[in-house]
Amino acid sequence: MKIYKNIKKCRICGSSNLKLIINLNSQPTANQLTSNFNQKEISVPLKLLFCNTCKTTQLSSTVDSKYLFSKYVWVTGTSDVAKKYCEKFVLITRKKFRDVKSVLEIASNDGTLLREYRKRGYRVLGVDPAKNIARKANRENISTIAGFFDFKLSKYISKKFDKPDLIIARNVIPHVEHIHSIIRGFKNLSKKNGIIAIEFHYLYEIIKGLQYDSIYHEHLYYFSLKSISKLFKKYSLYPFDYDKSPISGGSIVLYFSSNKRNKSKKLKNLEIFEKNKKLNTLSTLKTFGDKSRKHRDSLVKIMNSVKGNVYGYGASARSSTLLNFAKFNHNKLKFIMDKNKLKNGFFTPGTKIKIVKFNKNKIPKSSNIIILAWNFRKEIINQFDKTSKHKFIIPLPGKPKIYEIQ
Ligand SMILES: [Zn+2]
Repeated sequence: MKIYKNIKKCRICGSSNLKLIINLNSQPTANQLTSNFNQKEISVPLKLLFCNTCKTTQLSSTVDSKYLFSKYVWVTGTSDVAKKYCEKFVLITRKKFRDVKSVLEIASNDGTLLREYRKRGYRVLGVDPAKNIARKANRENISTIAGFFDFKLSKYISKKFDKPDLIIARNVIPHVEHIHSIIRGFKNLSKKNGIIAIEFHYLYEIIKGLQYDSIYHEHLYYFSLKSISKLFKKYSLYPFDYDKSPISGGSIVLYFSSNKRNKSKKLKNLEIFEKNKKLNTLSTLKTFGDKSRKHRDSLVKIMNSVKGNVYGYGASARSSTLLNFAKFNHNKLKFIMDKNKLKNGFFTPGTKIKIVKFNKNKIPKSSNIIILAWNFRKEIINQFDKTSKHKFIIPLPGKPKIYEIQ
């Protein structure tokens, strides 16, 4: 069974003017954990391309979404940072948009965010492709439709429900092949004064922090303000403001509307910033590719130089890219600890490292721990006692660093 196809033309504008930025080797998809060490795996090319016509950075291969998302093991409820930010997200939107009474969230997961809105009296509706997770949300009285959101589903929603005042899509737009159909769906459900909040891992942060580990098969597009605005404009949706978000190691929440509102000063400044940084250019992306390869080489050197066993922390999707690109496997890493119980007992894709329950007493004193979920590095290091004398290898952002507890 072929689970993927390679693109010849840009998914956004149809141009064939696609340039290779970095090849991260063929890898199994990042969330396909295996329960058996000897289980056969399917590898898919992982190459980042830049469309020199519409300036959208994207992957060369599209994996069948049913294969990718049907058994999604990542649940937003598990990270403290993600949880805290949910509350903040609600407070920010409440303050900004006082007329909003109803919220529709696309890829609402287990309802973590919608629960915060409902607590405050909003009418809420969620859509999520993972049936088991949608069921869980419904059980907890967060009304959730199990399915892939697209134009067709938007027609169903508009028949059954009132149009929402606010549509939220957090870190979903970059993951979907049928992106045009989704945005048509937004337009279809958007009221005249309606707002659409789109959160995405911001290309500038990826480049600045050398976050090549955020490149994985689920993540098809790597948007800048310019590239995403151009895409939404095709459907007569216009950006008017934005906020920063800590998710994924640097995201932004961009607000669109059907009616052309005045752009905030903040948004205008971001447009100027992207221009000054030459963010949407082939040469900037090529430099990012070169630096990422060099970064990988220096991380390999560090891992080879430390004495004794190395343990991992955080079997996230991005850790899968890093492990496969650097070729760290079960010989190098004894095991990876992860707080997500759903992942415990499984093996990492391609690199076959066992994922175990977090238990700080399992690790001998003065051990080496590589923090693969580096965007939660403070949270992680704080769990260990000072007397443990562990050495933490922090691969990213920027240059790899060693931090010793003392
Ligand atoms: Zn294009």
